[in-house]
Amino acid sequence: MEVKGLAMGLQLGASLSVLLLLGACADAGARETPVPLSSPIAMADANKPTISFQEWVKGFRVEALKAGISADVFDRAFRGVTPDPEVVAADQSQPEFTKAVWEYLGSALSDKRVATGKQLIAERKALLDRIEQTYGVPRETVVAIWGLESGYGQFQGSMNVVRSLATIAYEGRRPEFGRSQLIAALKIIQAGDIAPDAMLGSWAGAMGQTQFIPTTYQIHAVDFDGDKRRDIWNSVPDALGSTAQYISHSGWKSDEVWGGEVRLPKDFDYAQADMSVKQPISYWAAKGVVPAAGGKFPAREYPLEASILLPAGYRGPAFIVTENFRAVLAYNASTSYALAVCLLSDRFNDRGTLMADWPLSERPLARAERVELQRLLTEAGFDTGGIDGIIGYNSRKAIRAYQVKHKLPADGYPTASLLARLQSQ
Ligand code: CA
Repeated sequence: MEVKGLAMGLQLGASLSVLLLLGACADAGARETPVPLSSPIAMADANKPTISFQEWVKGFRVEALKAGISADVFDRAFRGVTPDPEVVAADQSQPEFTKAVWEYLGSALSDKRVATGKQLIAERKALLDRIEQTYGVPRETVVAIWGLESGYGQFQGSMNVVRSLATIAYEGRRPEFGRSQLIAALKIIQAGDIAPDAMLGSWAGAMGQTQFIPTTYQIHAVDFDGDKRRDIWNSVPDALGSTAQYISHSGWKSDEVWGGEVRLPKDFDYAQADMSVKQPISYWAAKGVVPAAGGKFPAREYPLEASILLPAGYRGPAFIVTENFRAVLAYNASTSYALAVCLLSDRFNDRGTLMADWPLSERPLARAERVELQRLLTEAGFDTGGIDGIIGYNSRKAIRAYQVKHKLPADGYPTASLLARLQSQ
């Protein structure tokens, strides 16, 4: 859906903070919006609408009718709708502090979430058999996404989606996103899938048990219980079928692994540990990368293209991740999220417990510190491709170049000690 290049998926710290704010939802767009450099006040002014909401609705109605929405559906969906101050506040908020990846995983992989998932896998066996046969996505992966997106359907968001999207279109930071999602939402209502007042979701328009935004729903949602309606809110078969279809559309290959924890050799070149570097598993095996649990990679996995991922830098656990991991990233372009889904799916089979320790003494940099790190790197001649507080591909590249120059392990990972070193120079 809204995944704009993998670089976005690799902003570990930055994506995580917004992830936690929104809850995990299939709305990479909302989550990955770069944070503008200008002050929040200037930003708010820039979004200040010049016309009243009623005038805006009048104009948008013309656009919607041109797009094929009937006047009756439009007027029914917009009856009594006003801008939602909660949406405006959420849209403007820029979380300063981020959770460490191990804290996020700790809650994502809680004993309770694992136990509930196991129980649901047993209870829903017939449905999950049919989903696996239809889409080739393992039941554990589908149920893990369900568990992370909506707590297995318990937390779907209770905001009126038309109202939220209209607010974003009228005075949000991403009016274009709001408009296109709103048109898609009206089409869903027009198709009779859901009544306007039952179309509930997150402030950013992520809906139902799958947390699909309307455009994702339009392409990937499926009626899996055969009642002619795609109901991702109330029908578990529809929700899980839709999740599996989306993951399948995103490139999941049945009978292939997602990857797992690995051990890197002492002389490993950390600059290669990046999602932009893809090599067959045989290549990594030849470099001395081995499964963390011991033994060797099975020969049948040798041809799979894979990357090495260090979610907390070279001091923390290392993972090998295949194209199936990237299919999960399509759902939510955060590598922490995809790791949570994949590890949770393993936990359902009593696997996926990590061997290596997390570097608990490190803390994630706050937004202001990330900005400072980017500024200092740029001043020192290591181009971070802008100073926005988001550690994406260019920032990691700049950190690596700095680390290589100073003979540090080139993992491209932003730490407090790296910042302190730059500050003292
Ligand atoms: Ca249905």
